[in-house]
Amino acid sequence: MSRVYNFSAGPSCLPEEVLKACADEMMDCNGTGQSVMEMSHRSKAYEPIIENTEKLVRELMNVPENYKVLFLQGGASTQFAMIPLNLALKNKKAAYINTGVWSKKAIAEAKKLGVTVDVLASSEDKGFNYIPKVEKISGDYDYVHITFNNTIMGTHYEYIPETGDIPLVADISSCILSEPLDVSKFGLLYAGAQKNLAPAGVTLVIIREDLITETPLAGTPTMLTYKTHSDNGSMFNTPPCYTIYVMGKVLQWIKDNGGAEGMKKRNYEKAEYLYNYLDNSDFYHATAQKGSRSIMNVPFLTKYSTGATDEASVAKEKEINDKFVKEATAAGLVNLKGHRLVGGMRASIYNAMSLDGVKALVKFMQDFAEKN
Ligand SMILES: *Cc1c(COP(=O)(O)O)cnc(C)c1O
Repeated sequence: MSRVYNFSAGPSCLPEEVLKACADEMMDCNGTGQSVMEMSHRSKAYEPIIENTEKLVRELMNVPENYKVLFLQGGASTQFAMIPLNLALKNKKAAYINTGVWSKKAIAEAKKLGVTVDVLASSEDKGFNYIPKVEKISGDYDYVHITFNNTIMGTHYEYIPETGDIPLVADISSCILSEPLDVSKFGLLYAGAQKNLAPAGVTLVIIREDLITETPLAGTPTMLTYKTHSDNGSMFNTPPCYTIYVMGKVLQWIKDNGGAEGMKKRNYEKAEYLYNYLDNSDFYHATAQKGSRSIMNVPFLTKYSTGATDEASVAKEKEINDKFVKEATAAGLVNLKGHRLVGGMRASIYNAMSLDGVKALVKFMQDFAEKN
């Protein structure tokens, strides 16, 4: 067996212990003679599995009693619509901070539903390479939405905006459980699981109970109403059973490795190792500004990304990037191609990525820089 170091932005690497545990239980889970994939979601065998996953979410994220934990489908992208449908009720007005692609998509969806959107701040002026400081927010908004970690741009909030009585909503798809987060500061948190928690297929929503309404915007489908899922323990229809099971295993792995605090230590070690190298290199540089840098997604460019637009410079830049990705892949370091909006390379170093993986990447980068 030969495993690679997988730097994919999502779906992404999972802890090997988890993959092995899933393999061990593939033919017979807990003496049931079935795989979890084959179980009825309403069976006695499955019940403790979803209960265990919820219990671990609550424990590891320190979720207060007055919040519901929901396992939904449709990805984080469906939340872009569910949030305005269920929360933009009083004034049909919401505030967003625009920090990149995912914020823009969330904004577009709210507008599509007829919600008045105030974009309070945007970092588009600098190609989204920083997080604007909007520390205090007030107004007649039904909610405020932020993208806490920007997977594509490699930026991350190092503060939580103060919104007073206005519910704060955050997309934490690519940073959930990467470090401790005070859930009580938020009205709603959501995360597609395929970055840091599980394989693709489930979206975790943590919502304060008073935000779960009987009467969302007129015409809201049953499946897009939080109350439907909260009243039915995420079992109104068939939930993504197997993914919820794997999430439980990942959460147990996080717990065994020191919980959110343990992940923070592990992640800062990795991120600092990589940023340190980038900041001291004359061949590479990180694209995100200090003070806004993600500890999960690290986009970087080489010295051949000069911004020059003449044909020769563009060709050289492409040649080097392609070569980097190709040679890295051959060395067992995969999925390092940057997002087309940033260019260059991106290393996603989620919880499951080891410090050894990051060290192997830096070693490769050093060799590559010397030869090019
Ligand atoms: C990946 C990602 C999304 C989209 O998630 P889907 O589950 O594919 O809909 C949204 N927001 C952020 C921050 C992401 O990283």
